Amino acid sequence: MTLFRTSIIVASLLTLMACESRSVESQAEPQLASLWAAHAAEYQAVTMQIYAQATRDLPRLIADESWSALPSREGSAEKPLAVILDVDETVLSGVDMELTLLPFTHLRQYEWSISHKAVPIRGVAEFVKAAREQGVDAFFVTNRPCELLEGNSDTCPQEKSTIDDIFEVGIETDADHVMLVGERPEWNREKLSRREFVAESHRVIMLFGDDYGDFVACSRAEPRAPCTNPATRASRAEALDAYENYWGNGWYILPNPMYGSWTSVE
Ligand SMILES: [Mg+2]
Repeated sequence: MTLFRTSIIVASLLTLMACESRSVESQAEPQLASLWAAHAAEYQAVTMQIYAQATRDLPRLIADESWSALPSREGSAEKPLAVILDVDETVLSGVDMELTLLPFTHLRQYEWSISHKAVPIRGVAEFVKAAREQGVDAFFVTNRPCELLEGNSDTCPQEKSTIDDIFEVGIETDADHVMLVGERPEWNREKLSRREFVAESHRVIMLFGDDYGDFVACSRAEPRAPCTNPATRASRAEALDAYENYWGNGWYILPNPMYGSWTSVE
């Protein structure tokens, strides 16, 4: 057996174990999915394509003062401009952790984060640079949680590690622009409240993420406030049509076949 085949089998077993460890966001088709994200030039070409398209769209969406990437927030012409990006599989790749660190827990993700240099998603640093040069601020809304750690007096050490991760892929940012679950009482895993928080002060012209929940509210099988009903495959499919004009036009979704809220809806 070749070393390559051996490594595929080992990686497959490891990712299968990861699958069992994720209750809500379990891996589906873990072997090929993780290997594709880890090794396929096709994957990197897709992410480059997405960020290149978004870069070309910047001047148009900046100039259109009636435009908001948040459907409820048109009429924000007087506000400064912003884009909102998710972090994992949007700004940085977690595939190496998916392949090696098992089972997945947020604590293990934190420990991985502080002990490994973050791997960029191709195209993101160039996009954020272009946006900032045109006066557009960047906010990072992640479902990494604020959690107390034994022996650490910081109430949210994950915020610093996330800022450091983002820096490692070539983007400087700070705590005012990185928004984790639990930083405020109403900031739960439903990202809607954090998008709305940014929209209070900014005209949000673009959203970026690898999960439907980075764009569409109430897309989880386990709803979080203000959502009350579990999402289904059918409800998510309806949102595809309802927001037809946003996909690829202010909404830019990155591929993630490894995990996500899509895996738990029925
Ligand atoms: Mg993500």
